[in-house]
Order: sequence, then C-alpha cells, then structure tokens
Amino acid sequence: MPAVSQFPVFDGHNDTLLDLANPERGGGRTFFERSDQGHIDYPRAIEGGFGGGFFAVYVPADPTAPPPAGPVLNVFEGREFRMPRPLALDYAQRQTLMMTGLLLRLERESEGKLKVVRTADDLVTCLETGVMATILHFEGAEAIDPGLDALEIFYRAGLRSLGLVWSRPNDFASGVPFIFPHSPDVGPGLTDAGKGLVRECNRLGIMLDLSHLNEAGFWDIARLSDAPLVATHSNVHAITPTPRNLTDKQLDAIRDSDGMVGLNFAVAFLNEAGTNDAATPIATMVKHIDYLVERLGIERVGLGSDFDGATIPAEIGDVAGLPRLLDALRANGFDDDAMRKITHENWVRVLRKTWKD
Ligand SMILES: [Zn+2]
Repeated sequence: MPAVSQFPVFDGHNDTLLDLANPERGGGRTFFERSDQGHIDYPRAIEGGFGGGFFAVYVPADPTAPPPAGPVLNVFEGREFRMPRPLALDYAQRQTLMMTGLLLRLERESEGKLKVVRTADDLVTCLETGVMATILHFEGAEAIDPGLDALEIFYRAGLRSLGLVWSRPNDFASGVPFIFPHSPDVGPGLTDAGKGLVRECNRLGIMLDLSHLNEAGFWDIARLSDAPLVATHSNVHAITPTPRNLTDKQLDAIRDSDGMVGLNFAVAFLNEAGTNDAATPIATMVKHIDYLVERLGIERVGLGSDFDGATIPAEIGDVAGLPRLLDALRANGFDDDAMRKITHENWVRVLRKTWKD
C-alpha cells in the first residue's frame, strides 16, 4: 500500500472509465500501468496523492444515430454546437453496463488496492489506509428506465451518485447547453419521472449531482430533495459566466442545505473568457476556490477535477500535478484544518449525510 497522506485528495469527478473503455479515445492504456496518455492511472494517482473519487459513467452520443439537428447554439473551436439528441435506453444501458463492469473488474483485479465504496465508513477506511476509494457515479440517467427497475439493479451494483442529466435532455430533466456567456436558466424543469427519480434516490440514499442540470431543474431538486445539494464539478458563474457554473443564488441554496461544490479544473469553466485555454494558471483555480469559500464556507468546498474529461491547466498537467494545486492553496493561506476539509473531509461529511449506511 502507498504511504498514507494526511491530505489525500478525494475528487468529485473524473471520466477515466470512458477513456479506459474506448481505446480510440484513451490510447489503449490500462489503469494499473503508468501511461503518458490521459490524466489518471494508478501510478500517477499515487504520485499525486489522489485518494480516490467519483468515477463517472458518461455515455457518449450514439455514433449510429443521426447528428443533432436543432439550432446552432455556439461555435466552439471552430465546431458548431447544437443541443445533443436524447439517447435511446437500450444504447445507454449497453454502454453503462460496459463501464460499470469495467470499474467492478478494476476492483477485483486490484488485489485490494482499489475499492468501490458503498458506505461512508468504507470511504473513511480507504482514505485512512491508502486504498483508492471509488464511487460509481452516473453522469446522466439515460440508462434508467422510467419505471426505475434498472435503478434497483445499479444500486445493488454500487451506484451511489447520480446526475439526472449530462448537457442534454432526457426523460427526467434537461441539461445546460455549452453556450458562452449564458445563464444556466435554459429549458424546463424536471419531468414527473424526474421528480419520481429524485424521491427514489432519496429513499435509497443515492447522492444527486446538480452539475450539468439547468436552473429550473436545480430549483425543483432544491425543493424536493431531503439531502444536501451537491454540484460535483462546477465553478463560479460570477467569475466565468458559462451555464455550467453556479450563480450566487444557487450557491446560497447549496450553503443553506449544507451541501458542497467541487472545483472543476476544466479551463473553459475557469478562465473569465470561457475559452479552452490550457495556459489558464493555477491562480485562476485559487480565485474560484476563494469565491466559493467566501460564499459557502470552508466546510462546503472540495475538488471535482474533471480529469480525463476536459482540458485542464497545463500547470497541473495530470493527476500527478495535484500537489501543485495544494501548494498554491497553502500559499493562499489555508491551514491544515482547511486543507483537510477541501481535500476530502467535506466530501465525507456530505456523503455521510446523504447515504443511508
Ligand atoms: Zn461533466
């Protein structure tokens, strides 16, 4: 086992499973061997003090489906962006089974080095003993049928965190499109099926992730849910006005629910121009953290890197670069107590209040 740090980083979001499941995207790398591709593998994670995190199952667009046909919402790096089409249930379930199976196989093949955690006690034990703690998270509920039968199965398989949507509509809710600058107030709130899904997640103890959800959906969940409000990988709209970031009013609701926000390292959600500029400095990450701490309190801020899912600051590079962010936070005046909270303790608190065991 690796040496146990006082400040293991437990991280709110990565797309590593997507890379591992799709060799054309991930370069054919495997999790337990060091690679120079992508952001997270086990050796680099240990080097960076990464204690684990939410491992997202994100289902990409179906390559055999027709391309999106709605109006052009944005032009990003020369590419026209339209609202993605909803995914078909059978396609989403196939992809989700593949990535869920992959995470469970990593656990089995890890010989005790990696665990899919299902309880807050599991998570704490992993962080204390240097076992990598992973949470099975779905980024969009497309693999769940409106009758919610699949939810029972995925819960038994370890699902403990669910975002109703990625940035597209589905049977449950609507996600924010990538338009800049723009408010997150685009599109309708939760459907009746979405409201039912929220109640069922509360009952089972599955954390609901608000990142990617539009504002009407956010307020529906704020009204309906009995759990702390959490955005696993979002930043400050007042600094970077992308709809993926949170307005002051949303941040206040998260604070009042004793929830939290994980800082997204995606440069397009960090720098004020909203551009995909890898030269965005660590200082800009610290600026968002300072704002979040000011608005939410030190108890309600964590990290949500988006490793393997976004362009991140070149100064960080990959998961092995996490200590450079922690050094910058210390230099900014955060003491040991604050560093423990930001790196992992806040996630533990929120999950303990949300999960049923
Ligand atoms: Zn995301």
